[in-house]
Amino acid sequence: MATIGVLSLQGAVSEHVRFLENNGALAKEIKRPEQLKEIDGLVLPGGESTTMRKLIDKYDFLEPLRAFGEAGKPVFGTCAGMILMAQSLVDKEEGHLGFIDMVVERNAFGRQRESFEVHLNVAGIAEDLQAVFIRAPLVKEVGRDVEVLSEYGGEIVAVKQGPFLACSYHPELTDDSRMHAFFIKMVEEKLATKTTLSR
Ligand code: GLN
Repeated sequence: MATIGVLSLQGAVSEHVRFLENNGALAKEIKRPEQLKEIDGLVLPGGESTTMRKLIDKYDFLEPLRAFGEAGKPVFGTCAGMILMAQSLVDKEEGHLGFIDMVVERNAFGRQRESFEVHLNVAGIAEDLQAVFIRAPLVKEVGRDVEVLSEYGGEIVAVKQGPFLACSYHPELTDDSRMHAFFIKMVEEKLATKTTLSR
């Protein structure tokens, strides 16, 4: 069984834990960098990215999180989590973790509407995924190796680059756990290749 952590410094943590466990993974709240050694994949939840970054620095998480991603372990970021994964941000030159070759704009939908719920076609995952947007970011640019999984209103809202998955919205605040099931499969597939290689 895959063990998947949820970075538990701030934000919507318990909803991710519930979705992961309901879909057959063992979920762990990650509050200290040493705990990253105990997990096969990681969820970066929604919340507030500047606050989350402050807490990442305060608890010495930045380098261990980067090393986790560089080791090729799967990471799934929702909303503020997506912001943390971007290589760069529109209002700030440098990104935080830089896992995905994309430029993200914070609060891009929020200026129009604070929050709203829609159904999205997310390639390879669902044609009608329930998605809640709350002061959501959007992806302004992607590099060549990034797969665009979903668009809403002509804007990119879900992407995948190798072991990294990210979306502007909160799937965990709906009843629809297909995006989490997809991520769990990514983690399980990664575990299976590792096992085959070490045989
Ligand atoms: N607007 C938030 C930020 O910039 C993200 C909002 C969310 O995670 N729902 O971090």
